[in-house]
Amino acid sequence: MSASAVDRRIRGLRPPKPKVDPFTAHGWLVEQERRPNEQNVEWALTAFLAGAECPFTCSFCDLWRWTIDGPTPAGALVRQLEQVLAAVDGPLPDRLKLYNASNFFDRQAVPPEDLPRIAELARPFSAVTVESHASTIGPQTMEFARQIPGRLEVAIGLETVHPVAASQLNKRLDLSRFERATDFLRENDVDLRVFVLLGAPHVERNESLDWVVRTVEYAAARGAAVVSIIPVRGGNGELERLQGEGDFHPPTLRELEAALDRCSHVAPTVVTADVWDAERLPACEACRSRRIARLRYLNVSGAPQAPITCAACDAA
Ligand code: SF4
Ligand SMILES: [Zn+2]
Repeated sequence: MSASAVDRRIRGLRPPKPKVDPFTAHGWLVEQERRPNEQNVEWALTAFLAGAECPFTCSFCDLWRWTIDGPTPAGALVRQLEQVLAAVDGPLPDRLKLYNASNFFDRQAVPPEDLPRIAELARPFSAVTVESHASTIGPQTMEFARQIPGRLEVAIGLETVHPVAASQLNKRLDLSRFERATDFLRENDVDLRVFVLLGAPHVERNESLDWVVRTVEYAAARGAAVVSIIPVRGGNGELERLQGEGDFHPPTLRELEAALDRCSHVAPTVVTADVWDAERLPACEACRSRRIARLRYLNVSGAPQAPITCAACDAA
């Protein structure tokens, strides 16, 4: 895929890329996650892997910070995964999430010759989640699914169904492409996880929550087992440009909470709020930690919980 003028503008506005070692994982996390229906709550290990940069250059993306220039060297992801698995204490979680800051089924990002060893390392887990642009889902997805004994789940960034905003994301994803990918996953008995943006650029601020709800409902109708609402985080240069033009409004912690509260009706699809880096979201300092705790509780329990009351918020 050759770089367009928009790609070049987005890349040109980025701050310098941190130095990334493709032989060192940049993090891992074990957390509880709710699953649809009777599957209850499971433990999930997320391995944050470094590798080749994604070619799509979305306007809101910050994952390029964890990527290298050029293709991922053969053996690098295997080494990273081995490090993560060696570092995890206690019993192995149920699910392994391989998040490689790009598309798992892009040959530049995940060398095909590494897939058998990655599948072997994933063998003890009852389920594996990888992330992929809808356009890179296909036969290679099923090749990996056949290599792992557990269930495969593919996470796709749908981002928003707002027609204007979706066309401005530089993601090159329309709903027909998304639907072909989700049909393919369903026909092949692969689970679907969907990422939805809160604060997508080019969505009017006063319509932001409505579009999150519509996008979550659409993802649930397409069979998503899990939908994660991700607040757009500034800092990539392009978002600051869009903010200056009035086309991006950084989402707040209260908006994230409201979005989650408004999406409980799509059960059995599990809807969660991404609280990674929630400390950076604009919020009232008197209640920030209580709101983050409430979101964490809702994510895992799915049970209704009383709203937070805060005198400082009420007075504002
Ligand atoms: S497809 Fe995903 S990883 Fe690639 S640029 Fe877009 S958001 Fe980032
Ligand atoms: Zn408050």
